[in-house]
Amino acid sequence: MAKGREAGRSGPAGEGDAPSRVEVDAASGLARGLRQVLSPHWDLRPAGQAPELIVVHGISLPPGRFGGPWIDRLFCGDLPPGADPYFAQVAGLRVSAHALVRRDGRMVQYVPFHRRAWHAGASSWRGRSACNDFSIGIELEGTDTDPYEDAQYGSLAALVRGLLGAYPTLAPDHLVGHDQIAPGRKTDPGVSFDWPRLRQLVAARPGATIPGPITQAT
Ligand SMILES: [Zn+2]
Repeated sequence: MAKGREAGRSGPAGEGDAPSRVEVDAASGLARGLRQVLSPHWDLRPAGQAPELIVVHGISLPPGRFGGPWIDRLFCGDLPPGADPYFAQVAGLRVSAHALVRRDGRMVQYVPFHRRAWHAGASSWRGRSACNDFSIGIELEGTDTDPYEDAQYGSLAALVRGLLGAYPTLAPDHLVGHDQIAPGRKTDPGVSFDWPRLRQLVAARPGATIPGPITQAT
């Protein structure tokens, strides 16, 4: 959609750039280099429960339009209901995700990963319900039908690799879409999301295809 392509970088370079490598600190639950916009929409996981599952979502606000501050504001509980006709029906929701990957690959973190964000709703994975208890929710800015951007796959894969490194309770096959844990109720990230591509990027070693400088021996 043309509207999505118009949404370019709006912030300064540096923190929040699309990274190829993300370091996650398990103690603080924070990812280094991500813009931190901490949401009040979280609580504690059940005692002793570490993250075991990563759930990929898709979101755009208003639906089908990219850019703007609205996703941050929804997850922070201050979406202005009058700013768009659609907002009235979602402005009061107390929802969040741990992180968002914007169209240009820049990422935002809303909730520390070891805390419980409110992204999955009624859901079930491998016979276990209430997936918020044990999952990490990552939103991609997009729709079910618009292709996601190259930069989004790169950033998402980098974040997933960082999470796998920080939490041994996660595993590469503990990675699903919202549609898979809430079938019939949710459709995101949608048919436009290329799962084989993500899985391939997650499995690849970061920088493995980038040759180092060649030093000529004499
Ligand atoms: Zn979702």
